[in-house]
Amino acid sequence: MIRINENYLKLQSSYLFSNIAQRVSAFQENHPERKIIKLGIGDVTRALPSACIHAFHTAVDEMAEDHSFRGYGPEQGYACLREKIAENDFRARGADVSPQEIFVSDGAKCDTGNIQELFATDIRIAIPDPVYPVYLDTNVMAGRTGLFEKDRYQGVVYLDCTKENEFIPELPKNSVDLIYLCFPNNPTGAVATRDILKSWVDYATENHALILYDAAYEAFVRDETIPRSIYEIDGAREVAIEFRSFSKTAGFTGTRCAYTVVPKTCIAYDGLGKKHFLHAMWNRRHSTKFNGVSYPVQKAAEAVYSEEGRIQARALIDYYMKNAALIRKEMAGLGYTCAGGDNSPYIWIEGKMDSWGFFDLLLNKAGVVCTPGAGFGQCGEGFIRISAFNSYENVKEAMVRIKEALY
Ligand code: PLP
Repeated sequence: MIRINENYLKLQSSYLFSNIAQRVSAFQENHPERKIIKLGIGDVTRALPSACIHAFHTAVDEMAEDHSFRGYGPEQGYACLREKIAENDFRARGADVSPQEIFVSDGAKCDTGNIQELFATDIRIAIPDPVYPVYLDTNVMAGRTGLFEKDRYQGVVYLDCTKENEFIPELPKNSVDLIYLCFPNNPTGAVATRDILKSWVDYATENHALILYDAAYEAFVRDETIPRSIYEIDGAREVAIEFRSFSKTAGFTGTRCAYTVVPKTCIAYDGLGKKHFLHAMWNRRHSTKFNGVSYPVQKAAEAVYSEEGRIQARALIDYYMKNAALIRKEMAGLGYTCAGGDNSPYIWIEGKMDSWGFFDLLLNKAGVVCTPGAGFGQCGEGFIRISAFNSYENVKEAMVRIKEALY
């Protein structure tokens, strides 16, 4: 008899975005004349940089001729892209990462979800709350948690991120083995200073633990004192894996390209306490289960590092950050406590009521869609997330409507 992985039965239905969609369509049915402005989902809205489009076209044309056609590429990614990543994203900032330590992939979602395969099922995992839901759900699927009781999975060490700790998780009181960190954070927009990251690297070193560092939003960091990569911190090469994505940094959400850095010095242990190199293990996993990102997509990603690509990608981020600044200024002006938006495209707003209540208020009175914070974890209750991914004109109009609705 074919049997299922019963861990899937523990999963909570992902009500968040379907629930939002239902409420939005009900509102639209009742108010067909009303234009809804969506500042909910974290998807970019602006076109790819023209440097990427040009490289994309050229690579597609190469595929049209026998002499320049390419079939399977290296599973880890083409050397030309890996070299540019290592040089520009890491070495230029004093972080020691080599091209061979970079694994190009089709998304940070897949990588942050798949990486847990490398680890034993009976380790203790620490996950921030609120946070991007993939970290938790993939560990539930793998059987690393107990049942969902009283709003939380048993056996998980939740790292509460609250107004009191400025949405920066505190070090666990007891020893944990695998730690997820996400900075700039989705959904709170919080960023970690060098000292905070150092304290996590020291904790991981002392406890023989590993940090999974999701830096999908690093391009939004404006404060030069904030590290973009965990490898800017001494000792991180032994205890951290980092995830990056072209999705938000250059508009690749629909084009799909990302990468994971697994330093050759990064270690974990077997049941007898013997050290193993995670680079070799991830290489084995990646080349067994993945056949590489398409050549034109990698060439488009490589163009992000050209002179014009850099300028254009920066302009994209600047555009969204102008939206973020406006949202934060207007919401703060209305008396709401806000976090994020200064080094992140997300503004995390304390709603003075429950998350769904505030969501409904903004939808029904202003025709604006946000994301209820409770969807990202228990500690998100009472907050909403407003995203800067839309046109400036729409953001401006949304803020005028919210002002009118809430005054
Ligand atoms: N990591 C975080 C924190 C995210 O918010 C997202 C997407 O919203 C991802 C990863 C997924 O990135 P990708 O598009 O590369 O799969």
